[in-house]
Amino acid sequence: MRRAVVVVLDGMRRDLIGEPTTPTLARFAARATSFSAHRSMFPSATRVVSASFATGCHPARHELQGNTLALLENGRLVYHDAGHPGFLQHKRRATGRSLAVPTLAERLAAHGNMTLFSNVSPGAAYAHDPDGHGHVYHRAGSFAPGRKRIEGAQALDIAQDAAGEQRMTERFVGEVLVERKPTLAILWMGEPDATQHARPLGSPEHLAVLRQADANAARVVEAVDRLRDKGDEVLLMVCSDHGHQTVSRIVDVEAELLAAGLKESRESHDVVTPTSGTSTLVYVHPDHAGKIDAIGAFLASRDWTDRVVPPAELASVGQAPHHGLAFAISLKSDDEPNAFGVRGHSYESKPVAGNATHLGCGQHGGLAKYEQMPFLTIDGAGFTPGATSAVSTSPIDLAPTILAHLQLPADGMDGRALQSP
Ligand SMILES: [Zn+2]
Repeated sequence: MRRAVVVVLDGMRRDLIGEPTTPTLARFAARATSFSAHRSMFPSATRVVSASFATGCHPARHELQGNTLALLENGRLVYHDAGHPGFLQHKRRATGRSLAVPTLAERLAAHGNMTLFSNVSPGAAYAHDPDGHGHVYHRAGSFAPGRKRIEGAQALDIAQDAAGEQRMTERFVGEVLVERKPTLAILWMGEPDATQHARPLGSPEHLAVLRQADANAARVVEAVDRLRDKGDEVLLMVCSDHGHQTVSRIVDVEAELLAAGLKESRESHDVVTPTSGTSTLVYVHPDHAGKIDAIGAFLASRDWTDRVVPPAELASVGQAPHHGLAFAISLKSDDEPNAFGVRGHSYESKPVAGNATHLGCGQHGGLAKYEQMPFLTIDGAGFTPGATSAVSTSPIDLAPTILAHLQLPADGMDGRALQSP
């Protein structure tokens, strides 16, 4: 049978792959095609990438605009955390739709099904299948088709630690790849992202978790070899969703706009500034559209921005002015090494109260060099072993590539299949 298997090492930087710490990933390149210009989305954040992976579309089309974002509800701009388990269910009730375009799970519902095991935020996991077409396993709740809750030992009761990641990988191999055989099986590991947010990039703790994540990837690669020995035609993608930068300064974008008189108060709904780590989205309520030019001039004059994308240019970064989105900001970055010799710093946007910042550790979300340096390697029909492709690719190209392997149409997607003709 034709099948696709995807392994995602969340937050794995392409330039940190190497024989000492990630031997599986380093050797996998010899049997796969590596994509040397692969980029993330903007924001370069897991929930955005998950929705883009699932739909083959930019945020402008699927409408999950940031890790946190705003929705116009009953005439008000309302802040939301898209990592919350109920976010896309709320969005469907509030706006009439969860994601605005079909997911792989929906397209494969009548073609052998999609099964996902994920150890990232609940909202990112559920962005693969908000309407309940496939199987989604997550510690916050696992669901079968129809969003029927999976109970008891069949649910995914794991921690966000090394033991939990290994347990998830072993279940994925045994139950999904060997026994149930869906046409698309996705393993989305929470590491190395989780440790990178808490420890300096390149530190001994970070290097240790790279080895653990690499060992889990090895378990899947070996399982796919056995499936091929039995005659399955498997497309195997091993990849990440974004990289990381080292945080060198925290910027309170909302406080800056308040001080400049461009937002009425912390609680006001005229201007809302949800963050995605090293980027910020600036929403302006339509009743206050007269402020847009002044906000744009203010943002462009700050020393903490690398790039301010104005309303007329949102399409150039895959965004659209839905729900009053006016500006997308990528915060200041550099290419200097940190204390452990890992290059690239960025400023981090201060999130809402109660959420952590990551000074000295890793973060992502913007357009800087290393957060836009995820890796992509694909092994299977249409991909030359050991080859390196320099074509421009991003997560929107993965769904069309999977559908091409499964000989199914990929109509209506922004991305395109990556197989050689
Ligand atoms: Zn991620």
